Amino acid sequence: MSSLSDIGTIKAIMQRHGFSFSKGLGQNFLVNPSVCPRMAEMGGANADSGVLEIGPGIGVLTAELARRAKKVVAIELDDRLIPVLDETLAGFSNVNVIHGDALRLDLAGIINDNFADCRNVAVCANLPYYITSPIIMALLESRLPVSSVTVMVQKEAADRICAPVGSRESGALTVAINYYSQPRMLFRVSPGSFMPPPKVTSAVIRMDILPEPEYDVGDEEIFFAMIKAGFSQRRKTLANSLTSGGFLSKEQAATALADADIPPNSRIESLSMDKLAELSVAIQKLCKN
Ligand code: SAM
Repeated sequence: MSSLSDIGTIKAIMQRHGFSFSKGLGQNFLVNPSVCPRMAEMGGANADSGVLEIGPGIGVLTAELARRAKKVVAIELDDRLIPVLDETLAGFSNVNVIHGDALRLDLAGIINDNFADCRNVAVCANLPYYITSPIIMALLESRLPVSSVTVMVQKEAADRICAPVGSRESGALTVAINYYSQPRMLFRVSPGSFMPPPKVTSAVIRMDILPEPEYDVGDEEIFFAMIKAGFSQRRKTLANSLTSGGFLSKEQAATALADADIPPNSRIESLSMDKLAELSVAIQKLCKN
């Protein structure tokens, strides 16, 4: 099989299978031959590892992962691509393609069933951008036994995820991701690297999963509810944003902020991870009293 990043090859495959791109499913396929090998190398594919891929498309990244990893499981939602993948990945005996929605499948079960003989498991994917945040959060929140998550996302999402917590560029997603992992920017990818080219620039990021969260936030549900309330009104002072949507009363917000030694006119975007954890614990103390 000639290179799966070759435009002529892709067109021939599409014609043979009567396939056309679905914008709704975020189908922009990589045609820059240098991107997939770099992603696979930097995404933790090696002789001992199992790799979970979400959205293989016609299998261009899957093939690079399969060349390096012990085993690859690729989950594809579009049923039209399953016969395509049967053809393009026929030369690899270490790939298992699963037809389904990555947001609905039991990923822990899939990892258990497929990667028992692998020393570690990594996620590596060129994500469909319409579900970037839910997919990343599903991977992190469910505490899957994976050591890293390397994904291509829109550059704006990558900048936000990799911004320091406590900076203007940070957001609720930045905090959540930094709670579970250590994110870092790997490299940018231009629109011309895809067919069809998207309107936005993309970037590949890697999140190394922490064995345990580094911050004691107390009850995680309350911590994340606080983050949601705070960032939903991020330009307001914390005294105001914490009362939004009825999360806390004015008195409760004032007491918790004083307890965590945070000036009431601070904004949530200026708080470090330490301070956010302290505030979360102060709120929980207050709920118990
Ligand atoms: N990996 C290929 C590449 O790099 O050329 C294709 C990437 S394309 C950006 C995203 C892929 O995700 C498409 O193949 C699309 O059909 C698939 N997809 C979209 N939503 C999905 C979902 N919920 N679960 C699994 N795959 C999905």
